[in-house]
Amino acid sequence: MRTVIVGAGPAGLGVAHALGAARTPARDCVLLEREAEPAGLCRSFTVGGATFDYGGHAFFTKHPEVDELLGRLAPHGLYRQPRNAWVHSHGTYVPYPFQSNLFGLPVDVVADCLLGATRQAAVPAGAPPAHLAEWVTASFGEGIARHFLTPYNSKLWAHPLDMVTPHWTGERIVQPDLDDIVRGALSRREYRKYPNAQVRYPARGGFSELYRPLGEALGDRIRHDELDRLDLARRTAHTRSGATLEFDTLVATLPLPDLVARTADASDEIRDLVGLLRYNSLHLVSLAVDPANATDKHRVYAADPEIPFHKLVLNNNSSPALSAAPAFGIQAEVSFSPYKPVAREGLVDRVVGALVAMGLLRTPGDVRAADVREIPYAYPVATADTARVVTALREFYGRHGVLLAGRFGEWAYINSDSALQRGLDIGKELAR
Ligand SMILES: Cc1cc2nc3c(=O)[nH]c(=O)nc-3n(C[C@H](O)[C@H](O)[C@H](O)COP(=O)(O)OP(=O)(O)OC[C@H]3O[C@@H](n4cnc5c(N)ncnc54)[C@H](O)[C@@H]3O)c2cc1C
Repeated sequence: MRTVIVGAGPAGLGVAHALGAARTPARDCVLLEREAEPAGLCRSFTVGGATFDYGGHAFFTKHPEVDELLGRLAPHGLYRQPRNAWVHSHGTYVPYPFQSNLFGLPVDVVADCLLGATRQAAVPAGAPPAHLAEWVTASFGEGIARHFLTPYNSKLWAHPLDMVTPHWTGERIVQPDLDDIVRGALSRREYRKYPNAQVRYPARGGFSELYRPLGEALGDRIRHDELDRLDLARRTAHTRSGATLEFDTLVATLPLPDLVARTADASDEIRDLVGLLRYNSLHLVSLAVDPANATDKHRVYAADPEIPFHKLVLNNNSSPALSAAPAFGIQAEVSFSPYKPVAREGLVDRVVGALVAMGLLRTPGDVRAADVREIPYAYPVATADTARVVTALREFYGRHGVLLAGRFGEWAYINSDSALQRGLDIGKELAR
């Protein structure tokens, strides 16, 4: 049986690993990967001696199989530490998450947040919130919504929040109870009741080191070539270099709009459906700066619309090996979409200006090297259409031996560990 896997990110690597692809004849399984290296969105790069990922990455997981596998394969082990994340708000810094660390914000802001949260706690539960804006207010009250969570989420998602459905928030937005909100407003205290309070990172190199061993084990089963056209009726995949691969099963981990665009025999209905999926993109501005600017913060979140980014990643603090680099790395994540266009021109200057204003950079002259790159598909945006569209695409492709997997293959807001787990599950199923 011939399996073709498109994409050597965590999901595709998981399928190949569980299929035992490295030990099967090459004709039975091949991975197509258009980039020069595997790991997909988990790749890393360096700028001016500092190591960066494609947006801030850290490892934490609730999947024991993933934990065991990546822990065992990590060539130099994983470095574990408490996550040191901060929020920049109203001109000051408070620990992450905002909602349980109000202490230190201007008194009027704290009052708004506490009054909103206590009033909201007295509101009887009604119909589930229809969208993210409603969910934020229903969960935390008007003050926390207005002073941070609504502007922050608007900036991150780059979509009107009344388009975004909230079913994913349980795992992603920290939800302290009223007791924790009040106590966190009266004094600074440790609040770490969230899944990534402890994080791990490869002890050497960037996040890509976590997935590199899975790619290396596959050797020449990974073909660095791009899926160009898919012929479902003939079950053939045609590549950019001109190869034709026959398949019994194809596992597609590339973004669904790209898959449909490459499917010769996709119906008009399928093309219309995939057009309903929403996502945001990121400009990544990565700066290598004079180490005199080093801070011990790992992440900084910013909701202020004047600040061009929603998140900063201080990746040198991900491991002792990275902190020994000759330059300190500061990476800004700037999301954009058709709803929130962001000009790339002048972006480095705008980011540098904000860093100076926030006290994270002494002077623009401390920037030794700058790099701007794009992540075209960064976050899948959940809308009222998502589940229906993904189900229809899964059924359509499933009829032709094509399985969908991964963050943009299933349009699911998942981290790399869950993408890997989904790949492993599919691979095990196919192996049976
Ligand atoms: C800003 C940001 C922060 C994140 N933070 C974390 C974090 O802290 N921890 C964490 O675990 N995860 C994090 N993630 C999520 C993680 O990066 C993804 O969940 C994971 O990489 C998804 O794996 P995947 O295999 O589904 O997709 P991808 O990693 O996107 O892999 C898909 C692969 O398909 C290839 N491909 C695409 N089109 C073609 C084609 N036509 N032909 C051949 N190959 C093709 C691509 O080159 C790519 O290698 C973050 C993501 C972002 C954007």
